[in-house]
Amino acid sequence: MKITTNNGISLSLTEDELKRYNRQILLPSFGEEGQIKLKRSHVLIAGVGGLGSPVSIYLASAGIGRLTLVDSDRVELSNLNRQILHWETNIGERKVFSACDKLKNINSTIKLFPIHEKITEKNIVKLLDGVDLVIDCLDNMETRFILNEGVVILGIPMIHGGIHGLLGEITTIIPGLTPCLECIFQRGYKDKETFPVLGATPGVIATLQVMEAIKLIVGFGKLLIGKMLYVNGEEMEFITVDYQRKKDCKVCGKKDIDIKSNDIISSNYK
Ligand SMILES: [Zn+2]
Repeated sequence: MKITTNNGISLSLTEDELKRYNRQILLPSFGEEGQIKLKRSHVLIAGVGGLGSPVSIYLASAGIGRLTLVDSDRVELSNLNRQILHWETNIGERKVFSACDKLKNINSTIKLFPIHEKITEKNIVKLLDGVDLVIDCLDNMETRFILNEGVVILGIPMIHGGIHGLLGEITTIIPGLTPCLECIFQRGYKDKETFPVLGATPGVIATLQVMEAIKLIVGFGKLLIGKMLYVNGEEMEFITVDYQRKKDCKVCGKKDIDIKSNDIISSNYK
């Protein structure tokens, strides 16, 4: 099967790719076409820690064509209970390079772009250039609000994930269609620098983020649109809460937003 993009680029799958991804291609709603959509997608993972480790492992394994990893931290001993892409031998290394060293062995056919930078208001638009989808794997609200503003301005979908202890949350943001993070969260919330996390909690949320991401790119199933899924690992409860867009939201309420991103995503969810 071949798919021709808007740029006139023809994409198809190699024999090796058909073998490698056979078990997901077998899904009736996925098929070779779904795999080609993953191959031509560019996903940015913001944060390569507790959430970003499993997110990048599963996205690389699934065959996302281009993965950009952004993180300004270096690996510390206290990361190792949950940040499974980083090992004892990586302590002191920049996380994005520690991550890419493992990911290229998981899947050598995809392109990896490690960026050792802090996400700021100055670099956000440049970082998001050409990206189809963002996965929020950050550990603080301050940077999340910067990321949120960037994806809303550029019309790029984002899968938000957050964790604390045995608690986790996830929602899918499609600018112009769903509430953005500014609609959902109060500004001024001060993050505690060190908060408790059981390693399995980001594992659960991260794998749900990847499931949302793949459904969004391929275009099947139901997404967490206007809904936050809250996971309580201690009580083993999963609940969803509806959220509405705020008309006066100072980020997404100003004007109609076009999804300028990947034509696959815009055709699926516009
Ligand atoms: Zn908003």
